[in-house]
Amino acid sequence: MLTAIVRSVAGQSRMLILVEALLLTVVLGAADVWTGSEFSFSIFYLMPITLVSWTLGRRSALSIAVFASVIWLWADYAAGHTYSQPLIPYWNASVRLGYFALFAILFARLHDNLDRERDLSRVDPLTGVQNRRAFEEFAGREVERAVRYTRPMSLAFIDIDHFKQVNDRLGHQAGDELLSEVAATLISTLRSTDIIARLGGDEFAVLMPETDSQAAVAALEKSRGVLNARMQSNSWPATFSMGVVSAESPHTTLAGLLAAADRLMYEAKRAGRDRIVQSSDLGVGLPGDSGSA
Ligand code: GH3
Ligand code: MG
Repeated sequence: MLTAIVRSVAGQSRMLILVEALLLTVVLGAADVWTGSEFSFSIFYLMPITLVSWTLGRRSALSIAVFASVIWLWADYAAGHTYSQPLIPYWNASVRLGYFALFAILFARLHDNLDRERDLSRVDPLTGVQNRRAFEEFAGREVERAVRYTRPMSLAFIDIDHFKQVNDRLGHQAGDELLSEVAATLISTLRSTDIIARLGGDEFAVLMPETDSQAAVAALEKSRGVLNARMQSNSWPATFSMGVVSAESPHTTLAGLLAAADRLMYEAKRAGRDRIVQSSDLGVGLPGDSGSA
């Protein structure tokens, strides 16, 4: 039910959501009066509080909690509830405010924690770039956008050459440092709009929106130059094999691009490593697609 409520306000401004929550609280207050003082109604006030704590955060939710307590107090009076002591309804309202506020705080914290978990589940912990799952999500969206608006786009598949030697000769720790250095170099040498990910092991991928094959290869040659310089300065015996595809085909999918770029990367390996092999898209991902050095 929360998902349905949250979805129904997706895309609305903060102010509109707040106004809707206030109105919903007033409507609930009216229904509370209508059902009379014998029916306990307070659980329904949690709806606007939950909505606001999930979408707008703790502070706004606490405001709704206070408002809901006041409305509840008014509804209680209006429904004709009588008490033996005049202070009892205020005590009850305070108790309700306490549990509305607690609910608002817990829900906002739950939302924050879920957000943080979602972010962490998208990041490769060693290098700090996106992991495969995040890449599939973000790059997949970018591919769909490029296909719909027939915009140029390139994808590079990068595998480190002789990476095992670094692990074997200098230790796993050095291998880890090398991987971090590769990610940092790709970030610093490529555009901020390029999507960089570690797909696993010593494999990286870069999706370059608004970039045709010529521009992609020029950018990646620059990255490769800096990468090789950094490998040499650390005495790491590693170079880089890259496969690059550029696509405008209406049949293009991220999976097709990745498969094609992976094939081109293997061509780079076969051709002696330490190079870029590229292919302009001629039906990327379809059988028979081949790259050219
Ligand atoms: P090639 O030139 O053909 O690419 O060979 P390579 O030596 O680079 O080896 P390959 O790409 O086949 O294998 C990658 C190695 O990366 C295998 C694995 O031991 C190592 N590896 C995978 N994940 C990690 C990691 O997180 N840290 C470290 N240090 N090594 C890793
Ligand atoms: Mg390798």
